[in-house]
Amino acid sequence: MKRKFTIVLCSLIIVISVSSFVPRKKFDARPTNIILMIGDGMGLTQISYSLLTSTQKMNFERFNYIGFSRTSSSSHRITDSAAGATAISCGKKTYNGAIGVFTNKQPMTTILELAEKNGLATGLVATCDITHATPAAFIAHQPSRNMYEAIAKDFMATDIDLFLGGGLDNFNKRKDTEDLTRQLRIRNYDVLTSLEELWNYEPTKKKIAGLFAPKHLAKMQEGRADYLPFATNFATDYLKKNKKGFFLMVEGSQIDWGGHDNDAEYIRRELNDFDLAIGKALDFADLNGNTLVIVTADHETGGFALSGNEDDKTKDDLEPKFITKNHTATMVPVFAYGPGADKFTGIYQNTAIFEKMVELFRFSK
Ligand code: MG
Ligand code: ZN
Repeated sequence: MKRKFTIVLCSLIIVISVSSFVPRKKFDARPTNIILMIGDGMGLTQISYSLLTSTQKMNFERFNYIGFSRTSSSSHRITDSAAGATAISCGKKTYNGAIGVFTNKQPMTTILELAEKNGLATGLVATCDITHATPAAFIAHQPSRNMYEAIAKDFMATDIDLFLGGGLDNFNKRKDTEDLTRQLRIRNYDVLTSLEELWNYEPTKKKIAGLFAPKHLAKMQEGRADYLPFATNFATDYLKKNKKGFFLMVEGSQIDWGGHDNDAEYIRRELNDFDLAIGKALDFADLNGNTLVIVTADHETGGFALSGNEDDKTKDDLEPKFITKNHTATMVPVFAYGPGADKFTGIYQNTAIFEKMVELFRFSK
């Protein structure tokens, strides 16, 4: 009887240790690549609306590790995109409007700059002006998000391998009359200024600067087509050539603008497009094996809610509603997939996303 008990106890211990050992071994592997995807203004309702109106399975449903990010800035419980992106890019809370600078306006090293220093390839992809707050916070250091031309100049101080977005005017129609596209060409970039050039690009050994619109790219509803999924795929394909790995940030920039406009259809179209870009990143991660994909938001926009009729048997309506034209203080989801994804469960500050990425890349700060 005593022996039987011992055997049962021993096998129980073996089962417990094996089952806790297997996932740990699987997920402790270090990612060599991180694709960070930011849906600007993307709260849970924004995602829910697409899920509820979609006839197909969405890429959001492929994630196995999910957490929540607390988005407050140092100055306001409701953040703006500049402080929100800086918290993620630099790991410190700062004031609304700050681009890669601390509360004392001193520059902070970004995850993209750390990646460069460590010999990784780096990239930024957005559907807005590339000098706009979210992408800017990964590469520039300015006291105000409105200093677009100064932010464009900050791109010259880096070795970023690829950036794709809008904002050509801030590079070649500047108050100081400098033509930064010329400087980019001297610095060994292929400068692409139309989407045709992107679709038909033949790889060279050069770095790539894509500035596809004077300001922002078009809305999905106004013909942006599959730019974002294409650019995401294009970027991973380009950056993967660096054997040390890469850091890539991809922004679904205009989900936020649908929220500001209180326009549910604008949100839905932009979010579905972002979901297709996520699909490209996850497919790359599946093939590559060493890529961590993180999808999150800087904040929620609009106080978006879905009401309707749950009592009326003849109707199954969804009535999108908004409580504000601005941002809200609600937490935002963080989805993770790939090596290190298990680190992203729980509730934490937005700054922890930086800390986790640095830890997984094993960078020293
Ligand atoms: Mg943004
Ligand atoms: Zn906004």
